[in-house]
Amino acid sequence: MHSGSAAKPFLLALPKAELHLHLEGSIEPSTLVELRQRHGMDGASLAEVEQLYHYADFTGFLMAFKDVTGHLRTPEDYELITYRLMERLKSENVLHAEVFVSAGVCLWRKQDFAAIFAGLERGRVRGERDFGVSLLWIFDAVRQFGVEKAEKVVDLAIQFRERNVVGFGIGGDERQGPPELFKAVYARAADHGLHLTAHAGENDGPESIWGALNLKAERIGHGLTAEQDPELIEELAERQIPIEICVTSNVRTGCCADLAKHPVRRYFDEGLMLTLNTDDPAMFRTSLVEEYRLVQETFGFSDEHLRELARNSFEASFLPPDKKVQFLDLFDATVLRS
Ligand SMILES: [Zn+2]
Repeated sequence: MHSGSAAKPFLLALPKAELHLHLEGSIEPSTLVELRQRHGMDGASLAEVEQLYHYADFTGFLMAFKDVTGHLRTPEDYELITYRLMERLKSENVLHAEVFVSAGVCLWRKQDFAAIFAGLERGRVRGERDFGVSLLWIFDAVRQFGVEKAEKVVDLAIQFRERNVVGFGIGGDERQGPPELFKAVYARAADHGLHLTAHAGENDGPESIWGALNLKAERIGHGLTAEQDPELIEELAERQIPIEICVTSNVRTGCCADLAKHPVRRYFDEGLMLTLNTDDPAMFRTSLVEEYRLVQETFGFSDEHLRELARNSFEASFLPPDKKVQFLDLFDATVLRS
């Protein structure tokens, strides 16, 4: 559950960034009820909506995610969920977030994406003004929708590049969309100055992570199965490729069968560059403070270790260099004072 209030004050006070966070997975059940009522949909009680957030495995989760996106109809819906997300980030002292938008799902639903993006930006601007949180967008393509659809998502990311869209990524079912298919898509995104990330090694083996590196992904989402390949671990450590670790997500989707066996601590000890993230905080009933608390309690990370992970989250961000330095200076000043 969201135990931000029960967490140590240190974790709350620690300035944090979040780099792997899906907007559509951040919608609290109460907001989903509001959206259902807004659109005159049946089954608008809290209990019915909470039912949506229960699933047995990774495929079940992907289905639930699709279901949730079905509640997002208008630009105002997107504005609302962006603003609510930023409010929550502020309450956990998350100063900066890079947020995935499933642009591929909007296209699939034949929504007017320019209008939706205007709603997203209104939410972002209001959220920044009211909560002082910095937010950049990453457009995410659904790999099982295929390469042509991913091309269209890159088109949109290029189109809105000047309006806080900082990167491109692929997510969804790795087994139905291996990275090799997306080589040209990634190259074109990079040519247009977009940063690159990829979900990899979440529900498929280490070869999927090698594939993401071949796409020139600058960060790896999850990287859960890297531990099966010592050579890959060495490569990731040597190149200090940031890994967007999402512990609760991996357990809830069943990608990691047992929390105690999650590789986060082994990765840390091997010198990998790690960041902690929630992935879909509402859908996985977690928060970023909870993720820090969880790894500390389960794997014995010290406060000093957690400071390092929090600092990594700014270091591994796609912020422009001057902004990144500002955040790191602020981080160092705050942490040295504490
Ligand atoms: Zn994700």
